[in-house]
Amino acid sequence: SKELGRGHHQFFRADMNQRSRERVQLINRLRRAQEGGELSLHYQPQMLLSSGQLKGAEALLRWQSPQFGSVPPDRFIPLAEDSGLIEPIGDWVLARCCETLRDWHAAGHTQLTLAANLSARQFRARNLVQKVAAEIERCAVPASSLVLEVTESVLLDRDGLTRDLLFGLKDLGLRLAIDDFGTGYSSLSYLRRFPVDILKIDRAFVRDLGKDADADALVRAIAGMARALKLTVVAEGVETAEQAALLKMLDCDYGQGWLFGKPQPAPDFARLFMA
Ligand code: C2E
Ligand code: CA
Ligand code: CA
Ligand code: CA
Repeated sequence: SKELGRGHHQFFRADMNQRSRERVQLINRLRRAQEGGELSLHYQPQMLLSSGQLKGAEALLRWQSPQFGSVPPDRFIPLAEDSGLIEPIGDWVLARCCETLRDWHAAGHTQLTLAANLSARQFRARNLVQKVAAEIERCAVPASSLVLEVTESVLLDRDGLTRDLLFGLKDLGLRLAIDDFGTGYSSLSYLRRFPVDILKIDRAFVRDLGKDADADALVRAIAGMARALKLTVVAEGVETAEQAALLKMLDCDYGQGWLFGKPQPAPDFARLFMA
């Protein structure tokens, strides 16, 4: 039995090694992916629920690897965060978003907003505000067209530095959204302490709308609170017309989800939604 135990142990080790080798390989490939043009942004529309009018889009990262195929962001973004690669990748995302806004403005769509996701790790860069300011200036787009989405984890803010950065970003004139609202550590007190403009209701709540009275009550409560605090509400993961109708009735402002459109490359987005 001692023999068997050692065998199991070795098997486990081999499995671990295999997995960490895969991880290292993926991180190395990701490091080169950006320069090799394997990363791209897809754009998902956000609609005004009352009229169905296009309000703007969220930019979502895609990685098409010749070696691994299409790697989902839920797989490679955590790796990018752990390895620190999210910093250069995040800079690239911001630059691309400002360029896309410049294109939209050049085409006359000056009312559209574009939302970019920011990882908590990107708040370690003390020059984050200067970097965002430089991109906005380079592309000559109004800061008010840009939305930055952060999750509740960013707002845990142990040292007060993140708070300074968020206020610095706000001072540029852009808007801040809380992503996946209601799924993280939410004491709600941060809604008063941070300069938040937009709440994005997580799709877990939207999914159960109309099926679960608790989900309806939660969305209603979030929208009511948002209204009282003069925040805008965007519902994520809207897949059905029933959900959209309920969200509108429950006083949500905007909807994003497959009902309105899937994330797609800029040319397809423009052809479908900006004609
Ligand atoms: P997220 O920011 O919550 O983005 C929304 C996710 O929901 C996207 O997944 C989107 O494709 C998906 N989605 C949109 N509508 C629907 C719907 O109607 N039904 C369903 N089932 N799903 C819908 P995606 O593109 O796979 O991205 C996953 C996550 O990766 C994002 O979640 C975000 O946390 C992260 N991510 C994506 N791009 C970036 C980026 O540029 N920077 C950072 N830091 N994170 C990113
Ligand atoms: Ca997001
Ligand atoms: Ca989200
Ligand atoms: Ca999410």
